[in-house]
Amino acid sequence: MNSTPREGNPDQIWDVVIVGGGPAGATAALYAARAGWSTVVVDKGIAAGALGMTSKITNYPGVGETLTGAQLVEKIRAQAIGFGASFVAQRITAATLSDDGKMLVTGEGSYRGRAVIVATGSMGRSQTIPGEQRLTGRGVSYCATCDGYFFADKDVMVVGNSDEALEEALHLARFARRVLIASPTPQLRADDTLVRQATEHERIEIRLGAQVREIIGENAVEGVVVEAGGIKERVPVSGAFIYLQGGKPILDFVGGQLATTGDGCLQVDDMFQTSVQGVFAAGDVLCKHVKQAVIAAAEGAQAAIASDRYLSGRPSLKPDWA
Ligand SMILES: Cc1cc2nc3c(=O)[nH]c(=O)nc-3n(C[C@H](O)[C@H](O)[C@H](O)COP(=O)(O)OP(=O)(O)OC[C@H]3O[C@@H](n4cnc5c(N)ncnc54)[C@H](O)[C@@H]3O)c2cc1C
Repeated sequence: MNSTPREGNPDQIWDVVIVGGGPAGATAALYAARAGWSTVVVDKGIAAGALGMTSKITNYPGVGETLTGAQLVEKIRAQAIGFGASFVAQRITAATLSDDGKMLVTGEGSYRGRAVIVATGSMGRSQTIPGEQRLTGRGVSYCATCDGYFFADKDVMVVGNSDEALEEALHLARFARRVLIASPTPQLRADDTLVRQATEHERIEIRLGAQVREIIGENAVEGVVVEAGGIKERVPVSGAFIYLQGGKPILDFVGGQLATTGDGCLQVDDMFQTSVQGVFAAGDVLCKHVKQAVIAAAEGAQAAIASDRYLSGRPSLKPDWA
């Protein structure tokens, strides 16, 4: 069985497009592909998900050995790939979600689907840094693939310590004059190869244990105030790319097209369908449940079975064991 992500074809209309490949999304892929639907999972990186960043998991049923969360996700993905699902390592940045058409957009192309399953987890965060919200789109960005080009020959800061932060910093270094990485922790929490590539890159400078206190600028980003070892410094940069993680459902790409509750959680019915027909959601991105991998996986399975019913035009559920 091959667990290496395979490239999807952005021109294709997929039966099922799944956003997020953690336990919820990867299990949904397993069920959708096994039911015979062409299925693509678009995932920005295992280590950006809650399970992917977990160092040890011992309570997932049927898995006797102690695995890292990333190893467990790889196992589920391998099973889904074995049934024909495709995985692509890209980040969804925008979407068009209506009863008539569904398109998910990445910095490198778009994916059209007849059904969509949102399984992006809850490692998102609010715009908490002073200046961040006001300067979003004016130098504050969350996507180097989308916006890196605008910072050719300029100095930029990447805020974060994860695989995602380093990958984005390396991407930015293709255009920018200098890329400063402000890691809130004393050490980077990323893959060794990425850490080495970033550390050795001549245009990347890494500041460890550096907390971003403010993003400054009148109409566009002019600098970032960073505090390290009790000393505050104003660093002049033209762009601030933020990859910090928190505990909020990741729904930024949805752009308000799906109904949410007052506290920003997606509304779904008992078949995990959102307010848009054919758009389902599963896992931690739904707030009102216990956050455990087995529950996310179970919801992914339910969302895929509901997609199968939607795509087949069947009024009732078809049990997979039939
Ligand atoms: C530190 C920690 C320890 C934990 N330990 C345990 C444990 O021991 N046992 C247990 O059962 N549970 C544990 N959990 C909880 C468990 O990890 C989660 O409940 C589970 O991972 C949720 O699965 P999910 O698929 O919904 O979301 P996630 O696992 O968060 O996966 C979401 C995926 O979506 C992707 N994604 C997000 N946004 C985008 C986008 N815009 N475009 C493309 N892809 C995107 C991410 O890269 C990620 O791969 C732990 C959680 C944490 C944080």
